[in-house]
Amino acid sequence: MRFDRILNQDLPKALLRNSVKRQRLAHAYLFTGPPGVGKGMVAKALAAALNCPGAVEGEGCGRCATCRQVEEGRYPEFSVVSPTGTTIKIDQIRELLERFSFAPAAGPWRVTVIDMAEAMTEEAANSFLKTLEEPPSHNVLILNAKEPEDLLPTIVSRCQKIRFSPLPTRLIAEYLEEKLGMRKDEAQVLARISEGSLGRALAMVECGYLELRDRWLRELGAFFDRPLVEVMDMVADLVAGLKGQNAGTGKYQIGGLTDLLDLWSSWYRDLLILGQGGEEQLLINKDFSHTLKKVSKRYNIKNLVQILELLDRAQRDIKRRYNPLLVMERTLLGIVRLGRGAGRPG
Ligand SMILES: [Zn+2]
Repeated sequence: MRFDRILNQDLPKALLRNSVKRQRLAHAYLFTGPPGVGKGMVAKALAAALNCPGAVEGEGCGRCATCRQVEEGRYPEFSVVSPTGTTIKIDQIRELLERFSFAPAAGPWRVTVIDMAEAMTEEAANSFLKTLEEPPSHNVLILNAKEPEDLLPTIVSRCQKIRFSPLPTRLIAEYLEEKLGMRKDEAQVLARISEGSLGRALAMVECGYLELRDRWLRELGAFFDRPLVEVMDMVADLVAGLKGQNAGTGKYQIGGLTDLLDLWSSWYRDLLILGQGGEEQLLINKDFSHTLKKVSKRYNIKNLVQILELLDRAQRDIKRRYNPLLVMERTLLGIVRLGRGAGRPG
């Protein structure tokens, strides 16, 4: 893995390359930003640059045994600690600290990544505060997290913070088209809803998200065809059907209620854009623009705003762990009342 093969993130890459070149590394780094924007790859590029015998200008050669091992995750001095279940437990941190009592053997530097560091239990986090402050020489610790606020302040203050940005939609779409051979319009849809995370876009491809999206839009339309009394039963079926669909790895839960609400919000946002005379280019679900245009004529702006507010409230309630069935019943009854006779996705 080389820094120059990673999409965007110019600042983090330049900063770290420069530190390697000058051999002035922080003991511990805190990489923040959404998952799937290159934090893990930058950590690998750093490990390669520090250990590659042919490194030039703070960049590994990308071809030697060391570089290849780092890339494939087989390099003995590069390891990643991730949550087991939902948390990173104290035993995992103890194991990590035990390794620190030996000097790196396979190469000059050991790089240890704690992925989703916000998942550390307080006990686990406290157990390595001292090591964070004064790690043994030739060890670099990298903590990955979404936001610094998700971590204990005592952890954050001991790390050099490096912020990673969401990737531009255009880059993600190009990647999906070129590397995965996706159709342009489909690549653009995924890129737009991935919120700047290539990792999330790839997980969506893997989970067949586009087929899921077609079904969810059909289901949204179906709510308008039935009498209100049947809406409750349909909601129950919908919510029950979602449970088994939380596919994907721990980092990217695809196919759950949050994704469904996001999709429906994007649908009504698109209708709002068209209703206000906005350009087709601005639509998220551009591949449905024909249907969207037809449907948008039946809505007034006020109803669309109210529906978006309902969906927004539902998202917040789901995050607060309210009963999903009750939240969805209330939301869909509201949407159907506001959009009766309109809003059919086709
Ligand atoms: Zn190399």
